[in-house]
Amino acid sequence: MSNAPKNQEGQAIWSQDKEHFIHPYTDYATFKEEGSHVISEGSGNYLTDADGNRYLDTIAGLWCTNIGHGRTEMADAIAEQVMKMEYCNPFGHSTNEPGSVLAAKLAELAPGDLNHVFYTCGGSTANDAAIRLVHFYNNQRGKPNKKKIISRMDAYHGSTYIAANLTGIHGTKYSFDRIADEWVEHISPANMYRRPVGAEDLSEDAFCDFLVAEFENRILQLGPDNVAAFIAEPVMGAGGVLVAPKGYHRRMRDICTQYDMLYIADEVVTAFGRLGHWFASEAVYDCVPDIIVSAKGISSGYIPLGAAIISSKVYDVISQPQCEGGLLSMGFTYSGHPVACAAALKNIEIIEREKLNENVQALTPYFYELANGLMDISVVGDVRGSHFMMAIEFVTDRRDKVSFPAEADISNRIYQHCLARGMIIRPLGNQIVLSPPLTLTQDDVERLFTVLRESILAAWNDINEAGLL
Ligand code: PMP
Repeated sequence: MSNAPKNQEGQAIWSQDKEHFIHPYTDYATFKEEGSHVISEGSGNYLTDADGNRYLDTIAGLWCTNIGHGRTEMADAIAEQVMKMEYCNPFGHSTNEPGSVLAAKLAELAPGDLNHVFYTCGGSTANDAAIRLVHFYNNQRGKPNKKKIISRMDAYHGSTYIAANLTGIHGTKYSFDRIADEWVEHISPANMYRRPVGAEDLSEDAFCDFLVAEFENRILQLGPDNVAAFIAEPVMGAGGVLVAPKGYHRRMRDICTQYDMLYIADEVVTAFGRLGHWFASEAVYDCVPDIIVSAKGISSGYIPLGAAIISSKVYDVISQPQCEGGLLSMGFTYSGHPVACAAALKNIEIIEREKLNENVQALTPYFYELANGLMDISVVGDVRGSHFMMAIEFVTDRRDKVSFPAEADISNRIYQHCLARGMIIRPLGNQIVLSPPLTLTQDDVERLFTVLRESILAAWNDINEAGLL
């Protein structure tokens, strides 16, 4: 089915896109036929396509437009900074006002002694930078063998070469090579719904013990002198919105401390209100990391920005005067870009002024009440998440958690039915993901689950009628 708009202007964009735009994470078998759905405008919690159809955006772009779309205030802040000074060199001994003010603001909002900010252009580059800083830190401390990073299967950490290696989602590896594989180790994800072999029947506490023991055993196997850090998303996002058992992050943090390793929290999705707080690590999970990686909600996607926020403990080592004329030789032309930082400052001001963290906290019970109501549909296997991050997983048999066959294409069918009813969700294998703007209202929540219920039932009906089971 072609995504071509009906009007001529939209069609021109659609075909230019199809011929020339290499889209990320795209199935080219269907893309070359169908092209992309052309989205033209955004306002509040809604997007509008090239034909003028309006959609409730339940995924905030891609977990990022936390303050909603089309804010004039953001446009003004960006324009003002462009007119005042669009760019200056961030290397060495020159700086800019928004970059400095934002760094101080992030230090104020981040937990513990995470007081120092290394800016990048997005989440992948921030994870990449975090790993380089960890390695630099250990080289500086005279521990050059301490290099391995322990990540988790099903984690998503980005698409630069190192971030892609840290990623544990199998499908992202297909037909790609790996570099620096000797640095990366993967352990089990904290997936309570689909637990690893040997942990299927454990209670939540016992499952937590299992995961912590696996982590510690892996460190001992590799040798603590070779292991530099653990990296984890507070709630796994693209891996299927997996919420860890109670106490997990805190205990993994303690193990890192015990073995002189750093804990890196990848908060690219979970920060800036998505879990009802500026950062989720400490506020939700009682875990103060050594490094927090942020992007997306930091500027609500109005302009690209990423940051690795590091503790004073790490900063004190990496900022020691370098020997042999060396320096901290890493960074980007656009590290601390003044326009991006001005946008982030305005974004933070809006989240504060409109009490959007509080809105997420207040709406969360209702959001989950309506979501859990979907469990009366037999193919809804699991509803899970935290605050404004949710996944709904579909199964053909709830007791044995049997997934739909790929040909049934369940999540894409639901996506299409939602589109036809004026709503955008995110299909993800046998799941759908919801990560709405923090500006969602109670009416939006009601509309969301009414449309979703109808769409799930319609997709299920299509699959039955087509005999795809
Ligand atoms: N980490 C996490 C947890 C993410 O979800 C993402 C992107 N979805 C990234 C890193 C990569 O960020 P970016 O796409 O901005 O490079």
